[in-house]
Amino acid sequence: MSKTAESVWNNCLAFIEDNISSQAYKTWFEPIKAVKLTDNALSIQVPSKFFYEWLEEHYVKILKVALTKELGATAKLVYIIRMENTYGNKQPFTEKIPSANRSNLQSQEVDVPLKNKSPELKNPFVIPGIRNVKIESQLNPNYNFESFLEGESNRLARSAGLAVANKPGGTSFNPLLIFGGVGLGKTHLGHAIGVDIKDKYPEKTVLYISAEKFTQQYIESVKKNNRNDFIHFYQIIDVLIVDDIQLLSGKAGTQDVFFHIFNHLHQNGKQVILTSDKAPVDMIDIEQRLLSRFKWGLSAELNHPDYDTRVAIIKNKLYRDGVEMPEDIVEFLANNIKTNIRELEGAIISLIAHSSFNKKEITIDLARKIVDNYVKHTKREVSIDYIQKVVSDYFQMDVDTLQSKTRKRHIVQARQLAMFFAKKFTKASLASIGSQIGQRDHATVLHACKTVDNLSSTDKQFRKYVEDLSKKLTL
Ligand code: ADP
Ligand code: MG
Repeated sequence: MSKTAESVWNNCLAFIEDNISSQAYKTWFEPIKAVKLTDNALSIQVPSKFFYEWLEEHYVKILKVALTKELGATAKLVYIIRMENTYGNKQPFTEKIPSANRSNLQSQEVDVPLKNKSPELKNPFVIPGIRNVKIESQLNPNYNFESFLEGESNRLARSAGLAVANKPGGTSFNPLLIFGGVGLGKTHLGHAIGVDIKDKYPEKTVLYISAEKFTQQYIESVKKNNRNDFIHFYQIIDVLIVDDIQLLSGKAGTQDVFFHIFNHLHQNGKQVILTSDKAPVDMIDIEQRLLSRFKWGLSAELNHPDYDTRVAIIKNKLYRDGVEMPEDIVEFLANNIKTNIRELEGAIISLIAHSSFNKKEITIDLARKIVDNYVKHTKREVSIDYIQKVVSDYFQMDVDTLQSKTRKRHIVQARQLAMFFAKKFTKASLASIGSQIGQRDHATVLHACKTVDNLSSTDKQFRKYVEDLSKKLTL
């Protein structure tokens, strides 16, 4: 019997169903339709670009195994992204080829060769004739300059990156050190420079590596007794991009080897690009001689994006995903997630996922729920120390007074409030709260919480204390 798209896919599904949770199977595999089988390529239709990305990220391995079982080693998988027009009556954004037989649908075919998508850097040291080895750049093509939106917060870093990409090794920005907080685009910008250089100078050897992986490779090379090969490998690179360089702190051996590599590259006019979550002056446990080299070139900071940039980033993401979202929701997101672009993107993805699975429109209520989740998870937990400090300040006493054994009414109240908020805002047990607030036992803390509850419903002045303090603690 000859194979059809459907029969092949059904066999794949049977295999996949046996190997993943039934929830995951329902969510991610049931909605897929097999569309056609040509040669050894199976085309499957998925409901959205988000869906496709999710499959790629989480299930590409099992898909590969299943499909190879069915079609042999040359199997290929083609995704057809079907975008239904569910967001208002505007046409969804599409990048391509409407599928011929269904004119009311937009689709997008993505050809995915079933090979390892992000090949590990092959242990370069065991390959003889190292100079002829083609080095995989490890760059993510989606992290490019075009998708890296410009704003006040990143202007310097972005233009320095562009300058370096135009003339790698030929500007005074060597090394270029990009620093800034979590989720502000360091990794993206690092890749973008590499991608642009690869584009303009295909013959140049570009390598992106995280400091973490660099460290692992180094340790491995020491174990295997080929430290020199390791150094040699890195010295033949034209453009070296090392991400999260702060992770070298405290690792003397790795710093030492990096120092040698850096010097060699720099002396030979090769470009080095570094990222870090701290400015050089704030890096700790990094050798002075290395730190001073970090400062040779340019240090450019990525700051928190301003409101307009946040809006632009949201809209760009929506546009690329082919999703429409009402303006007020875009504004709501931009107003509520300010300090981390990754969180901003995460919230958008959740919103799209929720609305497309539940076939619901994206509403401000849904947005609020999702933002709450995001912001709550990532907000640092207030500590009991901090609570005691805020409460003492509020009542103009010091923390020692608040913790003291005195039975003076206003001090007792302050202490009880501190216990109440510790219970409310931290995950600490009653016993642990008691021991941190003046060595009391858990019964005392429980009593304090009840007292605060009672008083705030009977005493107006007291309720004001609770409200004021609540605000201060959640700011
Ligand atoms: P970091 O390495 O600083 O923690 P990333 O480079 O991983 O941050 O960025 C987090 C996310 O935010 C990525 O998905 C990235 O594409 C996105 N991002 C950051 N800056 C921008 C920007 N200026 N324009 C568009 N997307 C951005
Ligand atoms: Mg990063």
